[in-house]
Amino acid sequence: MMQSPSEVSLYFHIPFCVKKCLYCGFHSFDDRPELMDDYAASLVREMRLCRKSLDVPLSAVTMFFGGGTPSLMDPVPLQKIIDEAAALFGLCSDAEITIEANPGTLTMEKLSGYRSCGANRLSLGVQSFNDSMLEKLGRVHTAGQAYEAFRSARKIGFANMGIDLINSLPGQTLPMWEDDLLAAVDLAPEHISVYGLTIEEGTPFAAMEENGTLSLPGEEESAVMYERASRVLGMSGYEHYEISNYARTGFRSRHNQVYWRRGNYLGFGAGAHSFMNQPGFGERWHNTPDLSTYMRDCGEGRLSWLEKHGVSLREAMAERLFLGLRMLDGVDLGAFRDEFGVSFEGAYPRQSSIMLGGGLLEICGARLKLSARGLLISNQVFMDFL
Ligand code: SF4
Repeated sequence: MMQSPSEVSLYFHIPFCVKKCLYCGFHSFDDRPELMDDYAASLVREMRLCRKSLDVPLSAVTMFFGGGTPSLMDPVPLQKIIDEAAALFGLCSDAEITIEANPGTLTMEKLSGYRSCGANRLSLGVQSFNDSMLEKLGRVHTAGQAYEAFRSARKIGFANMGIDLINSLPGQTLPMWEDDLLAAVDLAPEHISVYGLTIEEGTPFAAMEENGTLSLPGEEESAVMYERASRVLGMSGYEHYEISNYARTGFRSRHNQVYWRRGNYLGFGAGAHSFMNQPGFGERWHNTPDLSTYMRDCGEGRLSWLEKHGVSLREAMAERLFLGLRMLDGVDLGAFRDEFGVSFEGAYPRQSSIMLGGGLLEICGARLKLSARGLLISNQVFMDFL
């Protein structure tokens, strides 16, 4: 009997940017724009090599171009990648195809090209609608360009759009943050992501923090900003469905939910991560982050997969919890027991008693969820499962 295809999501990492933002800890380069076309060709080669090595029926349900700045890529190479993915991985007719875009890199022509390629979801990295905040972050765009990019994309026909915002910025006050939230709501995107600024090692912001020239809101202020986002967006019709994500009904990010549910995903590009949930409790691996090694390997017909390993029972249980608890729907405790043959309390007696007793986790019906307080310190909660 023919095996029915397993659903898979495809991620493409585009590690090029116009200029590094001062807070950025992502894997991206601002000094190699000339490599973009060769890099796109490497992605196509990698997909072919990967497909050969994974000899199972697959059906791609989402594609996501992330970075870096994927909107530095022209529509022509994007089309080649999407066409090749469709040929190799059997792209579903209703696949969600997202491209992350920096408002400073978009034109009507480019947006229209992306739409024609089949991209049907645009995630706009606005970060703030306040020009002085954008300047402090070292972003290459203004608030005016963000408004223009959003409106142009709507005109072109993007009916599923997201806006990313960051709070707890240097010098940002609560009223300034509320203005950002309201400006986003006024544009009526289908999806809004809200992140708190984190200081990443090795970035200019880390150095400024070290020498005392970065003035950031305190922990309490940041917690108020987080709660204010939940209130303002909730009152504006957005469902808070994940720690940092809000959506109108029917517009949750399908791609990201695959990560949080331990679904299959294949990552292409330098440093991209992959997970297939078979055999056993699944296998994880990632590509070399070194750009030249990655491109050379693809050119010479080799996959540059590193640290490919089977996930152990213990790791799989922890992943199920710390990924699943990111979603406000929480983790189905019956499904946890069925999958792992042990209850949550049986597998984690110490954590369950401390966190349920201390009010960081709660059980609603048959689901385990982060409480309102747990949401504020989710990373600390998750660390305890590792
Ligand atoms: S645009 Fe994004 S990936 Fe590029 S430098 Fe800025 S934060 Fe980093």
